[in-house]
Amino acid sequence: MVKSIVVVGGGAAGWITAGLLAAKYIRGAEASVSVTLVESENIGIIGVGEGTWPTMVDTLRKMGIEEVEFIRNCDATFKQASKFRRWTTGEEDDSYYHPFSLPQGFEEVSLAAEWRDNHRGTPFATAVGLQADLCDRKCAPKQVSSPEYASVENHGYHLDAGKFTKFLTAHCRGKLGVKHILADVVSVNTAENGDILSLTTQQGDEITGDLFIDCSGSAGLLIDKHYQVPFLSQKDVLFIDSALAVQVPYEHPDAEIESATLSTAQTAGWIWDIGLSSRRGVGHVFSSRHISDAEATEQLKDYLRPDVPDVEVLSFRKLSFQPGYRAKFWVNNCVAVGMSAGFIEPLEASALVMVELAANTISQHLPASRAAMDVVAKKYNETFLFRWQRVIDFLKLHYVLSRRRDSAFWRDNQKAESIPESLQDLLTLWRHQSPSNNGFLSPYDLFPAASYQYILYGMGFRTHPNPLESMPHLTAAARTQMDKVKERKVKVLPRLPGNRELINGLCRPAAAVELNLVKTTSGSWRRVAPDDVDQMANHYPLFFRRDSVTAQFECIALVGLAQDETLIEAPEIPVTGGEGETSGITLSPQEETLLEPVKLDIAFSDKSTLLITGLHVVNREKLSGLSARNRRRRTALFQTMQASLQHVSALIEMRNRQLMS
Ligand SMILES: Cc1cc2nc3c(=O)[nH]c(=O)nc-3n(C[C@H](O)[C@H](O)[C@H](O)COP(=O)(O)OP(=O)(O)OC[C@H]3O[C@@H](n4cnc5c(N)ncnc54)[C@H](O)[C@@H]3O)c2cc1C
Repeated sequence: MVKSIVVVGGGAAGWITAGLLAAKYIRGAEASVSVTLVESENIGIIGVGEGTWPTMVDTLRKMGIEEVEFIRNCDATFKQASKFRRWTTGEEDDSYYHPFSLPQGFEEVSLAAEWRDNHRGTPFATAVGLQADLCDRKCAPKQVSSPEYASVENHGYHLDAGKFTKFLTAHCRGKLGVKHILADVVSVNTAENGDILSLTTQQGDEITGDLFIDCSGSAGLLIDKHYQVPFLSQKDVLFIDSALAVQVPYEHPDAEIESATLSTAQTAGWIWDIGLSSRRGVGHVFSSRHISDAEATEQLKDYLRPDVPDVEVLSFRKLSFQPGYRAKFWVNNCVAVGMSAGFIEPLEASALVMVELAANTISQHLPASRAAMDVVAKKYNETFLFRWQRVIDFLKLHYVLSRRRDSAFWRDNQKAESIPESLQDLLTLWRHQSPSNNGFLSPYDLFPAASYQYILYGMGFRTHPNPLESMPHLTAAARTQMDKVKERKVKVLPRLPGNRELINGLCRPAAAVELNLVKTTSGSWRRVAPDDVDQMANHYPLFFRRDSVTAQFECIALVGLAQDETLIEAPEIPVTGGEGETSGITLSPQEETLLEPVKLDIAFSDKSTLLITGLHVVNREKLSGLSARNRRRRTALFQTMQASLQHVSALIEMRNRQLMS
């Protein structure tokens, strides 16, 4: 059985993998598996990679990370889409979105035929959902008072790659029990069957393990230097192999933040533009076969000039990479994850999601014996080879659909020999039927059918009318969904804050939210039933109060702070409790010791005041001192409640705004 896992490399890949494995297998004193991460202090991390997928929500949650802590520490913002500019015609007004949310009602009916027949004047993403409008307005996907990780539309993040790695290091070491060794691995010691027995470091340590995960980045220390697994270059399909990265300050600290990664096509590549809370991360990725470094730098400077008058003061960092991936990722007792497994241009930010998928797959199928490991390795390799090929098809699709012919780069991208046969087949198929989840796509496909629709129709691809997609009942269902899109836009759009406003609200120091609250008139609180925690937290701040009859602490939702305290699209709020009723959530005596009283003393802008006493919150420090088992029992509830004071503050702001208007 695998009892000790050694991760080599402390970049994002290493820490995500170590963190996900530790979160699952290290349980305090009951630890069944140990996770050790060894990284060199002399070899830095790649330090780029600032866009994630919505999968990151689950990854952070699995590791027990609080969203607001992550946002504060990593300068993170909410990413909802990629916006492609000048990809189709190259003109100034040429742009389209690939949003993270599926088209409205996608699981029930495809809107592609209805859009083509009756809504073609509106861009596809704008017609079938509200996220494109959200991005146009630089809106957040949630309100300040929303529970952590919840949002109205799917979101990933933009993050500072350097800070993210440091944040994960502290979390994995401090909270998840990952053993951290700073040392340079210099040699690999093997058994007769080729398995790795141990690693020797320059500092003289020998690190033994049962499973070795190679997260050593482009060094490929184990998968390449030791096992010499061939690298399958993709440079003849996707030409981009170079990058220039630069950090750009905002004009002022409260500048608006984009909701999407902006990707603006150039003559031999494209420029990414990512808005963090503290700065923008911008870079030009390009094909060194089609443009020189000097020309690429000039294009990047031209892009930046309108916002940064003196671009010469900025420092540009050059990176080179080989586009491609390994012929195998798992060999003997070694798996390559992250840049050591492969890398293709970051057009759809698919690198970190591949790391997350790899770490989850390893965690889910951690071999129970050495005999099982070879089978797991075989399946793993098949799955991930397929995934890489599908990523390549999806990225190449952006180039194949382009109508740009203004440079050799775009013309070369059109050459049939550069287009994988699998993609050519799909394009033929899509001429006659829209991509659908029930079609050819495999559950292992990285991109859902909706993503293919967004790119195809965003770039002007035409699927011929197909009677099977336009049957009356399907058309009626599609029209119903299109009407829902319109309704949601009216209802939701005006109620979401801007990205900057949300980030400021979330990052406001806790002290500024100090309030005194406890009003005990009837109707001011509702008892929360165990099944209703998430839904109630969506609407109201949650606290504990001591029941006057049973003398037990119970979870309650504070009601009535603002006229309009319900979050978007919330269904009817269950009124599960009031004085005297039972069926709530009560605490054990040990859990009660975690509570501390809060008194909310609120002054509204119309000079009215509200004093609410008798409420309790969970003390954060005491919570981290609780035994792992007890903490686990209540983690979700306690973590949700950490946002309660901020939620109160957001409701007061809401009420004050209502009073002002
Ligand atoms: C231009 C560019 C833009 C990108 N944008 C995105 C994006 O938007 N979204 C996205 O998902 N991904 C993006 N990526 C990819 C992303 O940056 C990486 O996938 C991610 O950072 C993971 O890198 P890594 O951990 O595999 O490697 P690295 O960060 O390079 O880490 C390697 C680690 O191995 C250690 N190491 C190496 N040799 C030894 C040794 N001998 N002994 C001990 N330790 C050793 C190093 O110390 C380091 O800790 C981008 C990449 C590039 C090049």
